[in-house]
Amino acid sequence: MNFYVMTLFPEMIEQGLNTSIIGRAMEKDLLSLKAINIRDYTLDKHKRVDDYPYGGGAGMLMTVEPVLRTYEAVRADIAERTGKSERPRVVYLTPWGHTFTQKMAKELAQEENLVFLCGHYEGIDERALEEVATDFVSIGDYVLTGGELPAMVMIDAISRLIPGVLNNEDSAEYESFTGNLLEHPQYTRPEEYNGKRVPDVLLSGHHAKIEAWRKEQSIERTKKFRPDLLEKM
Ligand code: SAM
Repeated sequence: MNFYVMTLFPEMIEQGLNTSIIGRAMEKDLLSLKAINIRDYTLDKHKRVDDYPYGGGAGMLMTVEPVLRTYEAVRADIAERTGKSERPRVVYLTPWGHTFTQKMAKELAQEENLVFLCGHYEGIDERALEEVATDFVSIGDYVLTGGELPAMVMIDAISRLIPGVLNNEDSAEYESFTGNLLEHPQYTRPEEYNGKRVPDVLLSGHHAKIEAWRKEQSIERTKKFRPDLLEKM
């Protein structure tokens, strides 16, 4: 999987994703990440990438041209790498997009190339979005200063679903949101801590009973924290 991030703050993306599991996956060539600075593609002599919104209103908007030129640079890079000049899937991060879910992460993990477009200020001129964006995604009902953190959230969630990225693939398969349930409680050593014991069933070695207990706990937890998920089942 090859990730491209079009952003005004490439260092934020690079520094944020270069460590831990994702960093290791990049070293192993399981995935690649290129953060491209939109400001490098402005034709403005003062390197401006924003302007006032027509019709008035607070704040500034990112202008069309630098975004489109950055997009063409990304397409050229993909074409050079793959020999194909396809239009890649481009996710525009925006509070008004569809809310990001594990299901969406699974679906996006099938792509060979995935491009993210990060807005800043009050967002991006609509004409740029019409030209390049194929998906509109929000990471939740709140407003951040830029699309960089949302892009990193999505890249992290998608990357761990790519075969080989996690050491134990089971750990991605039996997690929260699989089958619309949240994960059951988990315990590790010691067996007892400050008088609190690990539930006996987990020490029993009886796999069927352990599975049944976990399922029951998952349902209880989902009822308590996310009853809306149970309604979807
Ligand atoms: N004026 C925009 C609105 O009301 O929808 C908010 C712009 S926000 C200050 C600047 C940028 O941050 C957006 O263009 C988007 O890329 C990103 N952003 C902010 N909140 C986000 C969220 N919840 N999910 C995804 N992206 C977000």
